[in-house]
Amino acid sequence: MRAQATFDGGAYIFPLAAWQDRGDAASSGMFFVTILGSGSAGNCALVETPKTRLLIDAGLSAMQTRQRLALCGVNPLEIDGILLTHEHGDHAGGLDVWCKQFHTPVYANALTAESLRRQSTVPKDWRVFVTGSDFQIKDLAIQTFSVPHDAMDPAGFVLHHGREALGFLTDLGFATKLACERVRQAHTLVIEANHDEKLLQADTKRPWSTKQRIMSRHGHLSNDATGGVLAGMLGGNLIRAVLGHLSRDCNSPEIATETTRRHVADAGGDNSKLEVFVAMQKEISPRFAVGAVA
Ligand SMILES: [Zn+2]
Ligand SMILES: [Zn+2]
Repeated sequence: MRAQATFDGGAYIFPLAAWQDRGDAASSGMFFVTILGSGSAGNCALVETPKTRLLIDAGLSAMQTRQRLALCGVNPLEIDGILLTHEHGDHAGGLDVWCKQFHTPVYANALTAESLRRQSTVPKDWRVFVTGSDFQIKDLAIQTFSVPHDAMDPAGFVLHHGREALGFLTDLGFATKLACERVRQAHTLVIEANHDEKLLQADTKRPWSTKQRIMSRHGHLSNDATGGVLAGMLGGNLIRAVLGHLSRDCNSPEIATETTRRHVADAGGDNSKLEVFVAMQKEISPRFAVGAVA
């Protein structure tokens, strides 16, 4: 059990007292996710419902984020919040400049917020959640859970709108039972597929200590590990996986796709029923409809 952290620089979010299934047969609750950029040079995703526009992570520069939002037809002033997975620079490096320009509420747990506050004098409108709790941002209900990664209190998310659910699982050394259980409800899962294990071992540019860190239980998911997560979701709601955070040197979109699909096939899954996309560093992804039939 993690020690309960407190943070006095912002408002604690009022958590949902009990998780309610917002199932509503009349409205599917379809919503959208666009990956604005993904990789070790910066991560940011846009989630859109009819009432809410939320960024997950702010690892691109504020200018890049603005430019990529413009490609989505979204004005930065319309962003209702930035939800942080953890404090690493490739997930929060654009936050200071963004928050100087826009007064967007920043949703983070206490340890993540505290760590970022220590590094910066730029005031932010913190909205602090306790990892493991559920809360609401307008018409989006957000479930939070811990993931193992070498950050202060890294978190994964499942975002719900109506009956539809989006899983968000990035930067984790291994897929815990809890993480797998949480994302099992998802129709679309954004998940890191960081490296090919053989390419990483053979890589001559990285020192051994860096490779050890990446491969450790607090590092990053390999393609094989990600394939294992997808294989474990067979029989659930998943119709689409968006692979992200690919290593430039130790992975490729083709290898990541092939490896994860092989795991799905080996587990008896029908790959024709699962869309697999790869999110890139330098360009935005298509706008994925969460919950739409593929
Ligand atoms: Zn990280
Ligand atoms: Zn990262």
